[in-house]
Amino acid sequence: MSRKVLVLPGDGIGPEIMAEAVRVLESLQHGGLDIELVHALVGGAAYDAAGTPLPAETLRLAREADAVLLGAVGGPKWESIDIALRPEKGLLGLRSELGLFANLRPAVLFPQLASASTLRAEVVAGLDIMIVRELTGGIYFGQPRGVRVRADGEREGINTLVYRESEISRIARVAFEIAMKRGRRVCSVDKANVLECTGLWREVVTTVGRDYPEVALTHMYVDNAAMQLVRAPRQFDVIVTTNMFGDILSDEAAMLTGSIGMLPSASLDAARKGMYEPIHGSAPDIAGRGVANPLGTILSVAMMLRYTFERADLALRVERAVEAVLARGLRTADIYTDGCTRVGTAEMGAAVAAALDS
Ligand code: NAD
Repeated sequence: MSRKVLVLPGDGIGPEIMAEAVRVLESLQHGGLDIELVHALVGGAAYDAAGTPLPAETLRLAREADAVLLGAVGGPKWESIDIALRPEKGLLGLRSELGLFANLRPAVLFPQLASASTLRAEVVAGLDIMIVRELTGGIYFGQPRGVRVRADGEREGINTLVYRESEISRIARVAFEIAMKRGRRVCSVDKANVLECTGLWREVVTTVGRDYPEVALTHMYVDNAAMQLVRAPRQFDVIVTTNMFGDILSDEAAMLTGSIGMLPSASLDAARKGMYEPIHGSAPDIAGRGVANPLGTILSVAMMLRYTFERADLALRVERAVEAVLARGLRTADIYTDGCTRVGTAEMGAAVAAALDS
């Protein structure tokens, strides 16, 4: 039976980059990959058509699909509408409705792009980190939260950092399983010296780690991790951390690679169903001009093949095709350097699809 992929282009450059990811998927279909592509609206495009960023039909199709491939959502056009109806709510709604608790953010530096990093090439050469961020718990969701007035009349803001043992162990397990397929090292990042909640985090991760004796587990305080990421980033293989620490560290790690347009991500549930998307936004400043980099979305397809469809062979083929195209010197504007060939979104996508076929 063919597996279903729900394609959600979204807003801004979303439809442009998604067209190229679909081109790659179609090329794999011709090569025998048995998948069915279903298309729907999300974000601002859905708000314009149906008055909500996450129409019931889109959610139904997402639940039915084996994987969701998303472009990006948002843009200035929708910034003044009610916050509950903003495009980003479509994305957050999908994550919570589908129970996507594990966010995987690789930071990989393609050798051809070493000069795009703001760090010296010898510091980042060969960089290949996987950040596993807990996505549905922690301080972004804990209760109580809000702003309240104290008895003395002063206002105070409150957010709560809370993790249950089961939430910690399931994300730890995802990290260890991934490490088993990579460099077999997990660094758990917490603030156990100050926050009791992350003291529990450290304890539970250590317990889960006993089931993975082949994986070397270390622990690091988040302030040190932020520093080590720019000092000696290659020391890391898999990093596992809380929602908020992961939010910050994954953006920091992304920047080590120099281009936001290159990086994919995955958000998985317990059964490895996933939503796959590039880490960048809808880039309204360049939307509609055919210049956006589609490689982050194409590499999200590779993650989908690896994690949901368990086709590491095809994932590698897509990644090798991207490398081959970069090695030929093709560059979209965001990663262009002197001496390379500047191409647009469609040309880049076509080149990757052609490299896949060859
Ligand atoms: P952005 O990631 O859209 O853009 C930041 C900068 O990077 C811009 O200069 C943009 O041109 C460039 N850029 C991004 N993707 C690129 C690509 N593929 N190729 C070439 N250049 C690229 O972030 P922003 O400007 O802060 O946000 C714009 C909109 O996107 C906002 O509405 C924001 O809420 C939304 N957003 C959505 C997501 C998502 O859908 N996951 C994530 C972040 C931001």
